Amino acid sequence: MSKASIEKVYDPKRVEDKWYKFWLKKNYFAANPTADKKAYVIVIPPPNVTDILHAGHAFNNTIQDIYIRYKRKKGFEALWQPGTDHAGIATQNVVERSLAKENISRHDLGREKFVEKVWEWREKYGSTIIHQLKKLGCSCDWSRERFTMDESLSNAVKEVFIRLYEKDLIYKGKYIINWCPRCSTALSDEEVEHKETDGHLWYFIYPYQGHQGELVVATTRPETMLGDTAVAVNPNDKRYKHLIGKKLILPLMDREISVIADDFVDPEFGTGAVKVTPAHDPNDFLIGERHQLEQINIMNTDGTLNKNAGPFAGNDRFVARNQVIQEMKKLGYLEKVTNHHHSVGHCHRCNTIIEPYLSEQWFVKVAPLAKPALEVVKEGKVKLYPHDRWFRTYEHWMENVRDWCISRQLWWGHRIPVYYCDDCDHMMVLREKPETCSKCGSHNIRQDKDVLDTWFSSWLWPFSTQGWPEESKDLKYFYPTDLLVTAPDIIFFWVARMIMAGLEFIGDVPFHDVFLNGIVRDEHGRKMSKSLGNGIDPLEMIDQYSADAVRFTLIMLSSEGQDINLSTKHFEMGRNFSNKIWNAYRFLSMHLKEVDIDFEEYYTHFELADRWILSSFQRAAGQAESYLNRYKLNDALNTIYQFFWHEYCDWYLELIKKRLYDDDNVDERRAALSVASYIMKETMGILHPFIPFITEEVWQSFKTGDEESIVTSPWTEAKNKYLDESSEKEMVFIQALVGAIRNVRAEMNVPPGKSAPLYVRSDADTLDIIKRNEDYFSSLAKVDKIKHYSADLEKSATATAVVEGTELFILLADLIDMEIEKARLNKEILRLQGLEKSISAKLANKNFIDKAPENIISSEKEKLAKIKDSLIKLTATYRKFS
Ligand SMILES: [Zn+2]
Ligand SMILES: [Zn+2]
Repeated sequence: MSKASIEKVYDPKRVEDKWYKFWLKKNYFAANPTADKKAYVIVIPPPNVTDILHAGHAFNNTIQDIYIRYKRKKGFEALWQPGTDHAGIATQNVVERSLAKENISRHDLGREKFVEKVWEWREKYGSTIIHQLKKLGCSCDWSRERFTMDESLSNAVKEVFIRLYEKDLIYKGKYIINWCPRCSTALSDEEVEHKETDGHLWYFIYPYQGHQGELVVATTRPETMLGDTAVAVNPNDKRYKHLIGKKLILPLMDREISVIADDFVDPEFGTGAVKVTPAHDPNDFLIGERHQLEQINIMNTDGTLNKNAGPFAGNDRFVARNQVIQEMKKLGYLEKVTNHHHSVGHCHRCNTIIEPYLSEQWFVKVAPLAKPALEVVKEGKVKLYPHDRWFRTYEHWMENVRDWCISRQLWWGHRIPVYYCDDCDHMMVLREKPETCSKCGSHNIRQDKDVLDTWFSSWLWPFSTQGWPEESKDLKYFYPTDLLVTAPDIIFFWVARMIMAGLEFIGDVPFHDVFLNGIVRDEHGRKMSKSLGNGIDPLEMIDQYSADAVRFTLIMLSSEGQDINLSTKHFEMGRNFSNKIWNAYRFLSMHLKEVDIDFEEYYTHFELADRWILSSFQRAAGQAESYLNRYKLNDALNTIYQFFWHEYCDWYLELIKKRLYDDDNVDERRAALSVASYIMKETMGILHPFIPFITEEVWQSFKTGDEESIVTSPWTEAKNKYLDESSEKEMVFIQALVGAIRNVRAEMNVPPGKSAPLYVRSDADTLDIIKRNEDYFSSLAKVDKIKHYSADLEKSATATAVVEGTELFILLADLIDMEIEKARLNKEILRLQGLEKSISAKLANKNFIDKAPENIISSEKEKLAKIKDSLIKLTATYRKFS
């Protein structure tokens, strides 16, 4: 390498794209079943095809890339399985919105044409996030990219549906589900966001039949009264005991309904008597089942009321709500209205208030699947990191599962593999569409209209991507996977269900470790969101600072599983580190004629500094790897960062300067250069998984033999044989002495260029250490002529410092003009005394204290304390000159 070829300022734009292309061309990211290598596998949490890389993705994928690159260098056949998710609702909404701009609805197109449009959209935009992941440096095996709607993955979905159905773990049932009237589909419980809302409680009067009396019920959703089929009270409620079985007349509908007794009713809520609407409330649904109540559905799927709502039919639910209230008021049936704070479910996709809705849906019985999925986590076959933070949450959820509603009334997704005969209503669950009805032979066969919940394909991801249900070579080799890195908000949606599916269909856990990374928030700790406009675009940051800087910063800010508070300014930290590496690299290159990392050849020419940096490096390397293995990424990175910046650059490169410029002692020069080069190269190796680009660029200048790339070169193992505790101890001591001398020089205003004689009062061994390393003291602390302390120094002006019992005396006589320094000190003391006086007076002034704001007073007090401290120090120094 030559000095001229290395630019002064690091240019990540030139470097990053160049190396990414090179890695792809060399096919380094490809993984294949290999007999003599162990596999290491991570499946990517498949981003939605609609996604655009956000800070959370950047963080999550950087972590995955770190482990894949680390294990690849460790000699594993490392597979990072990439792909995208078809994201049912999300994608359908995006395409519907874009059609709406042309005034087209999906119904105008019809199902087939609309699905075609979604595929077209996917072709055009679906790979956006994949390109963005490449910009970040992700080393996925792109030749294996999968999509949840690929043919083979769709087969897996079908297979799973049929197997579960045959095991009686899937059923169709009428059930109260969460319904989004805007998306016009059922939602799983996890897809509903509950928001605390200020609403009202309306107290309605229901008269007895014959009008000799009345009962009062309270409701938060007045319009649902149109579907009431009973009023329930608690059987132990003395106020109502005598009314059980009594008939009421439901106002507005003139329907006769009964008073029933059910334990579920809370006597404390409202009046203790509650209206029962089995078709529009999940609890009422259960009460209705227990008492065989009629279920009256009063609503259409779009949230308007249907013919069962009588005169209110055709109106939107919220319009109807007001109409019902007005009517009840007019009739004298509204007793009162009170304010009521409660939680209201919203669609997590479109934020519409969801409606509990009675409909026919498909369900998975989750409890039998959840039991073994809890066991494996309890037994440690699947480990959660950080365990303490997430295990209880996981356990609680798995012990309280509800059946999973898997059908969605969408057009985009996996069609349910169920067929109906139009002639005899026979239902068939089959892999392929049948020609004829197996019961009556009719040809009038139609497929179930619904599609499956998106998670019904994502929960198969670790094995559907490897060819299951085929017993493929890939499946055998790459399953189970090793690590899953994901955000904790999908621990139930996804992580738990993947464990269930793995155990049920493959008979083995899908992964051994789950690392739940924190959430990336804005600098004030708020979630990043479109509405707040506080998102940070990682691509913009890559453009401005480099991908390495983005990766470095995100990891440095994280600590195991904790959330990150991020501001754009933080990325400067990453850029600064790249620049530090670059400067060290340039410096070394200026002296390097040819690559020589074979430092052992020069062992006999080693100095303390060489032995120390080699030892210190092994220690840092070992620590970093140990942190990595415990998912403490920021500690791993910080260890090697501190080593490189503060030991290698700040000390070692300074300590060897003299030898580098000394052409007369070739072996000594080479000893220093070979150690410096070795450490540079190996540090790049350890940093590579974190910051892949600049490390490759630098490493290339130090490669030897047939080495090709840092990506495939072996991981740097810490070598204990280079550990050298006595050299480390000695160096730490020297660093402390140098630090103390530098402080004293600064305090005494010694011109930086002037060398000072140093006297030492210590035992003989210590003096020996210092004398032996006299060169270090002269180059780093500008002290020389090191001698043992002698009594005649008492009379001379010296500056002193004490380090671990060793006293240092720096003779100042010839360094500074004593009279000038004395005058300067005196002037400064007088100035500070004046200030001290005026501030003290201010603080003693009652008028000021009473009127001035708190923060002004405390800042004045602080100022005064600092002045007093400076005065003590300056006066002590001044005395030495007198
Ligand atoms: Zn919605
Ligand atoms: Zn039939």
